[in-house]
Amino acid sequence: MNGSGGYLATSASASGELVKVVEQKSPPDTALTFHAPRATSLNRFQQALFRHGLTLRRAALHTLQVNVGRKCNQTCRHCHVDAAPWRTEMMNAETARRVADWIKAHRPAVVDITGGAPELSEHFCFLVETARTSGCHVIDRNNLTIIETDAFSWLPAFLAANAVEIIASLPCYLEENVNAQRGDGVFGKSISALRRLNAVGYGKRLPLNLVYNPIGPSLPPPQAELEADYKAELRARYGIEFTRLFTITNQPIARFAEDLRAQGKAKEYLELLANAFNSTTVNGLMCRSTLSVGWRGELYDCDFNQMLAIRMRNGECGIRDQQATTRPLHLWDVTPADLAGGKIQTGDHCLACTAGAGSSCGGVLTEPQTQRSH
Ligand code: SF4
Ligand code: SF4
Repeated sequence: MNGSGGYLATSASASGELVKVVEQKSPPDTALTFHAPRATSLNRFQQALFRHGLTLRRAALHTLQVNVGRKCNQTCRHCHVDAAPWRTEMMNAETARRVADWIKAHRPAVVDITGGAPELSEHFCFLVETARTSGCHVIDRNNLTIIETDAFSWLPAFLAANAVEIIASLPCYLEENVNAQRGDGVFGKSISALRRLNAVGYGKRLPLNLVYNPIGPSLPPPQAELEADYKAELRARYGIEFTRLFTITNQPIARFAEDLRAQGKAKEYLELLANAFNSTTVNGLMCRSTLSVGWRGELYDCDFNQMLAIRMRNGECGIRDQQATTRPLHLWDVTPADLAGGKIQTGDHCLACTAGAGSSCGGVLTEPQTQRSH
C-alpha cells in the first residue's frame, strides 16, 4: 500500500499467473466502493467486479480456518484439495503449537478445522481443545466415513463433549450418486456415521450440517428447497436428522478441473460461472472475514487460494513490515487488526463464489431464508 491509500497490487489468475492491477483502497468495513479500479490486466473475476464498480477488501476477522493437511481416507472425484490416503503433507507439532498460541492470543469467533480428513492429524484434539478453552466456536469438516474406521470410533463422543459443530459432505440422499462422486461404499458408511452422530445428540441439540455440491458442471439448485428434500428423504428412508444443508458450487480447480478438462467442459463451466455473476454476493464472500492457514502455518485468503498456492505476502495484503519485502506471510506474522481493509488475492476460480446465490464454506450467500451456521 502506498502512502496515499492507493494500491499498486499484484493479483493472480487461476493458473497462478501473476497480473498487475492498479486500484484504490476502499474503507475497511465494506467490500463495496464506487472508486472504480484502473486496470491494465484483470482476471475474469476482477472484470466482473469492475463492471459493477466493486472492489473486494477484507472486513473484520471472524473465522480462522486451519487446514491441518492433505491426508484423507477418501479420494473423492470433486476434491479441491487433492486429498488422499497417500498424501504426507501434515501439520507438525511446532506449527500446531504456534497456531494454538495464536488462537489463545487472538480468540477468533470461529475456528474451522479442515483437511483432508482433519481428524487424521495427531494434533486435531489439541487444536479443538485449545480453541474451545479459548472461547471459540469450533467446526470440524468431517467426511463421515472416518467415523466408521476402527481408529476413530471415539470421535462422535469427543466432538459432542466439546460442542463442536460438524459440517459433513453428503452430495446426495441417493446411494448411487454419492458412491459415484465419493467412492464405492461411501454412502452406506455415511449413513451409519450419521446415525452415530444422531445418537450422541447431533442434528438435535448439537449442530450437524450437511454439504451438497453438484456432481457435474452445473450450479447447485436452490438451497432451501434442497434442504427440505434432504430432510424429508433422510428422515423417511433412514431416520436421520440434521440441522442445515449447505449448497456449495464446485470450484474449477484441482480434481474437478481435471475432470472438466477431460470432458472438454472447462471453458463452458467458466462461462456458466461468469454469466451467473451476482454482485449481491460480494459483500458476504467468505474471504472477507476468514483467514486460511495451511499445514505449515502459511496464510491464504481462503482454502481455494490455498489449493492454488496463492499465498498472502507481505506488502500485498495491507500488511507491510519494516523489511518491505514480498515474503510469504505466516499466521504468527499477523494480528486480526492487521488484516481489516486488506487486499484479497483473486483469480478466475473466484467466479464460483459469486455465481447464482453465491457459495461459501457455509453455503449460499444470498437466499433470505438461509442463515450462516455461526
Ligand atoms: S473427503 Fe473431503 S478431503 Fe477427503 S477426498 Fe473427499 S472431498 Fe477431499
Ligand atoms: S475463491 Fe472465493 S473465497 Fe476465495 S478469494 Fe476468491 S472469492 Fe474469495
